[in-house]
Amino acid sequence: MTQPASPSATPASDERLANWIGHAWRASTAADFTPVFNCSTGQRIAQTPLSTAADVDQAVDAAAAAFPAWSRTPVPDRAQVMFRFKQLLEAHFEALARLVTLENGKTLAEAKGDVRRGIEVIEFACGMPHLIKGESLPQVASHIDGVTTREPIGVCAGITPFNFPAMVPMWMFPLAIACGNCFILKPSEKVPLTANRLAELLAEAGLPAGVLNVVHGGRDVVEAICDHPGIVAISFVGSTRVAEQVYTRGCAAGKRVQAAGGAKNALVVMPDAEPDSTLRAVLGAAYGCAGQRCMAGSLIMGVGEAGDALNARLGEAIDQMKILPTDRHDDSDMGPVIDSAARDRLFDAIDAGQREGATLVRDGRRSIPSEGFFVGPTLFDHVQPDMAIARTELFGPVLAMQRATTLDDAIDRINTSAYGNGAVIFTTNGAAARQFAQGVNCGMVGVNVGVPAPMAMFAFSGWNRSFFGDLHVQGAEGVNFYTRQKLVLSRWDDSYSRKLGW
Ligand code: NAD
Repeated sequence: MTQPASPSATPASDERLANWIGHAWRASTAADFTPVFNCSTGQRIAQTPLSTAADVDQAVDAAAAAFPAWSRTPVPDRAQVMFRFKQLLEAHFEALARLVTLENGKTLAEAKGDVRRGIEVIEFACGMPHLIKGESLPQVASHIDGVTTREPIGVCAGITPFNFPAMVPMWMFPLAIACGNCFILKPSEKVPLTANRLAELLAEAGLPAGVLNVVHGGRDVVEAICDHPGIVAISFVGSTRVAEQVYTRGCAAGKRVQAAGGAKNALVVMPDAEPDSTLRAVLGAAYGCAGQRCMAGSLIMGVGEAGDALNARLGEAIDQMKILPTDRHDDSDMGPVIDSAARDRLFDAIDAGQREGATLVRDGRRSIPSEGFFVGPTLFDHVQPDMAIARTELFGPVLAMQRATTLDDAIDRINTSAYGNGAVIFTTNGAAARQFAQGVNCGMVGVNVGVPAPMAMFAFSGWNRSFFGDLHVQGAEGVNFYTRQKLVLSRWDDSYSRKLGW
């Protein structure tokens, strides 16, 4: 068997990646591998092992062995590892962003945002000595004091999607680890390289062996994680279909599970919205990361006369966008989608939108690079609420415009969605903004903000079929998810002092 290679450098074509277990690259027991692509060219750049339950067993053994010492390590010392990790991420920032661009296809600027948002979680985790503190109430009863502490829970696992190779894994493992847990990361098989690099850097930062492990693969690894008796908690981010499966299966095995799913987010533009900043924000929300964001704006509702102006101005702005291979062009405005299956699915969705009778204003099947997995920015108008392009998460650069008559009408349409990640309003009227924020049935609202983006100090709070569980990812809820509370009630009467005659 060939020695598994370190992913530190850009991998050679066809390189077979290994799992990171106990601070060593261990060849997977996988019989099958799946390709990783440079999405801008369609060329294979590495192969991800589709690991097995035996690989998960190895990782759980390493994590369980590391847990007693790591969970007893003083919290400020655990935080120091995060401080050093943050410094290493800053030192390798550009290289990490380029790795994200290479394996995911997003533009360099978007990749930098991906890494930066992840670093913000590390910064948050550096505050663990404060975040993890409990409460106390002296004299809760006569001679009795009450103190709560938050304790780590054991071996946790994280399963992540392809669209944010740096940020989404970093929503999970820094908090879990700083809380005193050990962790097994199962990154998307489509973007394994960034995860490997993060694991190496965390080892360099001084994390003890076995505290973070990376097991590559797909469904088999996920199911083994759900069923493994040595894993106590699962964080999942991905599509709603898989989120629900992981939630159901993990809970049935007695684990705590937080599972964030897909979305269909609407952007509402009022007639009084400031035109230029609204246009910029809508373009970013709809076409940023080629529409492959769970907070992407994929529906737009022009209220009243706002619709006609949007149609014209969005079309003109799309014509100005540079759709270039992101591996060679740092100034590309939008990159490719993740693979040929995603491209073909999006082309089919555009076909279906036309068949259903929506007006195709700009067609993303035209004027795109000939190689790689490109779909150009696409705009439909006069979309009806029951059309598939209005209801289904397409996860690509396809924006569907509906015409709403009033703000109430727009809110009612949004609230028929099964999802509940985000909704956005553009207006200069505070009363309209307030009515919208209070009326929409979702967990994250933007007011003149195209993407109410994840912020490390707040939980990422999807609702409805965009989230399964109770405590959300990140923020204080993330700390609570990775810890459990202990209450210590102590009775000390004053007999000791009396005996000494004090
Ligand atoms: P996905 O659900 O296909 O994959 C997510 C993870 O689940 C991957 O690690 C994958 O290997 C695994 N997986 C895939 N199919 C599986 C199966 N049948 N059984 C068990 N595991 C399986 O998602 P994706 O395509 O990688 O990512 C895109 C999706 O993620 C979109 O729906 C997007 O909205 C969602 N997403 C949500 C959030 C959020 O915070 N709510 C953030 C990012 C992405």
